[in-house]
Amino acid sequence: MDTEILLSANTHSNGPGHPESPDRLDTLRTLFLRLSHTGPIKLSIFTDSKTHTETDSFFRIYEKVHSREYLSKLLLHQVPPGTIIPLDPDTGLSNGSRKAILSCGESVDFLLRRRLDGGGVSFLAERPPGHHALRDRAMGFCLVNHTAALAHNIHQTDPDSRVAVLDFDVHHGNGTEDSLRGLDRCLFISTHQYPFYPGTGSEKNNRSDADGSGVLNLPLPEGTDDEDYRKVLREKILPRLEKFRPTDLIVSAGFDGHRDDPLGGWLLTEEIYSDIGRSLLSVECRFIASVLEGGYNLTALSRSVEAYLSGIGRPFQSPRSY
Ligand SMILES: [Zn+2]
Repeated sequence: MDTEILLSANTHSNGPGHPESPDRLDTLRTLFLRLSHTGPIKLSIFTDSKTHTETDSFFRIYEKVHSREYLSKLLLHQVPPGTIIPLDPDTGLSNGSRKAILSCGESVDFLLRRRLDGGGVSFLAERPPGHHALRDRAMGFCLVNHTAALAHNIHQTDPDSRVAVLDFDVHHGNGTEDSLRGLDRCLFISTHQYPFYPGTGSEKNNRSDADGSGVLNLPLPEGTDDEDYRKVLREKILPRLEKFRPTDLIVSAGFDGHRDDPLGGWLLTEEIYSDIGRSLLSVECRFIASVLEGGYNLTALSRSVEAYLSGIGRPFQSPRSY
């Protein structure tokens, strides 16, 4: 089965000079168009949210994570072109933000329907990222939490589901952990630089129920490299996933742990993202959906996403032209 790539509307802006910029998705769009000619990849582009039905599906999907008041506020803000309304010190709302997050809702809805049609492997490239977004508040470049929305929608509609969420962004997915903590049949695993922004993610919230549900925070120091990460993958992440036996695996795929990334302090290379992808593909489950989080050096982002897809995509060989 092809790896399904979803690309949502690239209309959100945090203002000039911000690292979470439209250039990120433009770069990935170029990558995906190239890969769609060379590997078993199916590219679906969601750039035109048109009707009120998309507003309905947006609320239906994200209301399981955020309050209706907060979601309404995001959609109803009238932002004049060229201006940015600051929602937190790092996060803004622009004229195009409404279209971008409606497009994210449409993409997540598509993923949920794809799961019902048989599952498979998917990658959603969207902006803005989501894993810091809290129930009633934007935070750290994030407006709405796509990963938590996928997990909650699967959990609530399928009582036989067992949803695992893995977050390998260099920052802790505090919004996702907040949203999923205490949920039965659900496992949240995060590797992240610690201590670091957003300040959460120590091991004190870790919990392991008899069936493997719970929270596994794996804080790792500045300077973590491929070999360090490989050890954590082999000794901590994969054994916990094997114990939990997920039906569904949702991945917060952030690539700002790359050594060339301007925001993170890790020393990872694209090789580890290929290893992560390959390892996750070996986990037996019906549905694997990865959602883009961070990654702010455009060259490193493109190479890392390509490497990850070469690992998690079925027998797709990444053309190594670099
Ligand atoms: Zn990050």
